[in-house]
This record gives sequence, C-alpha cells and structure tokens, in this order.
Amino acid sequence: MVTNQGFPSVEDFLRTLFFGLDEEELAQLARAARIRRFSEGEEICREGGPGDAFYVVVEGRVGVYKKIDEAEERRLNTLGAGKFFGEMALIQEGTRNATVRALEPTVVLEIGRDPFLRVLGASPSLAVRILVQLSRRLVEADRRALAELRETNEQLRQALARLERLDRTKSDFIQVAAHELRTPVAALLGYAQMMQDYPLVQRDEQLRALVQGVVDSTDRLHRIFNSILDLSRVIEGDVKIHPSPVSFPVVFQGIRDEFARALEERRLTFETKGLHDLPFCQADPVLIYKAFRHLVNNAIKYTPDGGRITVSGEVVEVPGLGRCVQIVVEDTGIGIAPEDLDLIFEKFYRVGEASLHSSGTTAFKGGGPGLGLAIARGVILAHGGRIWAESPGYDEEACPGSQFIVQLPLGDQDLGLSENGGA
Ligand code: ADP
Repeated sequence: MVTNQGFPSVEDFLRTLFFGLDEEELAQLARAARIRRFSEGEEICREGGPGDAFYVVVEGRVGVYKKIDEAEERRLNTLGAGKFFGEMALIQEGTRNATVRALEPTVVLEIGRDPFLRVLGASPSLAVRILVQLSRRLVEADRRALAELRETNEQLRQALARLERLDRTKSDFIQVAAHELRTPVAALLGYAQMMQDYPLVQRDEQLRALVQGVVDSTDRLHRIFNSILDLSRVIEGDVKIHPSPVSFPVVFQGIRDEFARALEERRLTFETKGLHDLPFCQADPVLIYKAFRHLVNNAIKYTPDGGRITVSGEVVEVPGLGRCVQIVVEDTGIGIAPEDLDLIFEKFYRVGEASLHSSGTTAFKGGGPGLGLAIARGVILAHGGRIWAESPGYDEEACPGSQFIVQLPLGDQDLGLSENGGA
C-alpha cells in the first residue's frame, strides 16, 4: 500500500495540482509523496492524532467525520479526486480535528510535513489554493451548521407543540375530572358535617373521632378539587377579576386567623411589617386572598417548628409597572435550590420525591398537589403584577429560608391608606 507501484504518474498528477512549481520542486514533492490505497471504511487519519502529513485524493472518495460526543460522530464533508485534507493540522502544527475514512476503494497521496512546507514556501499558487479551499470549507461548514440549526429548531418547535397539545389534553382531563368529582365530594362533606351534629356521634368519642377524620379528609379533597378548578381558570386566562379596594392588613389578618391553630401548634411566629402604611389596592379581594394564602401556607409547610414567617409591605416604583405595592412573604424554612426557583411556579411541580412529603396541609413538608404557586402566579399576573422567589439555597439542616416577592401595580388609583379599612 505504501509503494509507488501501480501508480505511474505521481509527478503528472502533482503537476496538475500544484502549478507554479518548477520541475525540481515537483520531483522533490513526488519523492516525498507516498501513494496509499485504502479499502472501503478504512481509516486514513484520526481525530486527535498527530498532524504530521497532508493528503490529496487521487481516486475514490473519502468522508470527513467529527465527534459530536462520546457516542456520536457526524460526517462533515465528502471529498473526491484532487481535494486536499489534513493540511489544517499541519499548518497549525496541531492535532487532527477530524477523522477521515475511505468511502470506497480510494487512492491518496500522503505528503509529510517538511516537504509540504518547503513546497508551500516555493509555490504561492499552492498557498492561495489552500487558502481558498480552507475558506470554502469554512463557508460550507457555516452553511451546514445553519441548516442543522434550522432543522433542530424546527424539530424542537414541533416537539414543543406536541408537548403543549399533550399538556392541554392532560389539563382538560384533570379539569373535567375535578369538576365531576367536586360535586359528590361536596355532598360527602355536607353529610359528614351533618353527622357531627348527631347526638349519637357526639356522645361516642370514638365515633366522633372517626367522623372528624372523614370531615377533615373530605374537606382536604374538596379544597384540592377547588384548587384544580381555580388553576384551570387561571391558566386558561379565564380569571374574572371583580375589583374593589383591597386592604392588605385585612387580607393577612384573615390568613393569620385561618392558620392560627397551625401557627400555634407548630410554634411559628407570624409577623407583619408595614402593611398598615400601604394604600388600598384596586384588585379582586377573593383572588388576592387565595394567592397570599398559598404563599403563607407554603411558608408554614416548609418551615420547621419554631420558625418565623414575616410578611412585609411597602410601596415601590418598578420600571415598566410604575407605583406598586410590594409584599414579601419570608420564612426561615428549608429554602429553595437555585434551579427550582422558577420551576416551582409550574403547575404540579414539587421539589424532591413527592412520596417523601408528609401528609397534612400545614405539617412540616406537608403534602400538596403542587398547585399553590401556579395559582398564585396566575392571579398576580392577571392583576398585571409580578411574583418571584428568592432563596440562598435548599438546606433542611441550616434552613436558609425563602422569600416570595409580589408586586401589584397601583396605577393612578389613590384610594387612601388601607389602615382605614383594615384590621
Ligand atoms: P405544594 O402543593 O407542593 O406546596 P406549590 O405550588 O405551593 O405546591 O409549591 C411547589 C413547590 O415549591 C413545593 O412542593 C415546594 O417544594 C416548593 N416551595 C414552595 N414554597 C416554598 C417555601 N416557602 N420554602 C421552600 N420551598 C417551597
């Protein structure tokens, strides 16, 4: 394979290729050149290998391949008779940046570094041709990369559209199921609550505990179905806002009252700051209550016993939103990992293994369907506001805490201080 036998016209071949060389230089090059024959699939040079020679295809075709990752390589180019390869590594004095294999029985001329560099110095036309070939390759690689990018973009777009369709189907199903199930569950809850009033039940402690269990579980189920329905409205953009002046001290007093038992049992301190100095905000009081209720509920769930929950409010000027009420719900809980800070606002997203969550809506790491933040976000967005989470990170030992920041635009409204209507 390495002899000149069977290939009589190396000089003639080189002459057509390297015009501008005199006969002596051609003869020199021919002496330095080795004819090599490769069968189909055989490797001529390898990516990462030494760049100590360059090649010219005499007959046949070669494929130029590059590794994309450990498992995959991609064919970048196909070269036929008269084309060079391997000159890049040689000029850069580096290693090969591609693997070349014969695509069919192929003959190539292999020319070592030193004779090549000598000839390159002597033949400006060769230098120019190599430059032209290199720039063509770059242009071609550019074109190919763009085409691949377009194709990948299109594939991603299609995959996204498919996922969105699937997601919609799933959401539709959940919504219908929640709707259908809510009515019997509401009836069940009603009957169970009626049973609590029966003298027979009231007299019997065991029976009372059993019925209380049924009421609590059914109530929880009912809340979950309501949350799902809230969520689907919020997601469909179907939230009807019935605005009226909202007083934040009133909202948070209501929430504090609702969770009073849990706060006491879990020895959690609940503090508010600056709420009385906030103006009224023209918003939907029911929805706003729901959104902040979820934030406080989470602060309770993800803060160990004995921790602190602080709700602070102030008026801030926000570029793009103007004057806003900013409410921060802060806890001394387990915190949130940076990669989860955005994801937690997605519906049904919960950090970690769901099965490890304990049960109980206010217990530490209590279970939930992963809807609270999605609803809160939907509500705040529907009011033209912003919501996001900040946390130094997730650590159940050190408990670095989390902050949920909500900004609600006040617009031109001047409805006075909420203290006047507040608790
Ligand atoms: P869930 O019903 O699971 O509480 P949410 O949508 O309210 O659903 O919250 C989504 C996830 O965000 C939770 O499962 C929890 O991992 C994380 N999370 C929410 N609030 C907090 C918080 N205050 N501290 C730490 N993690 C939180």
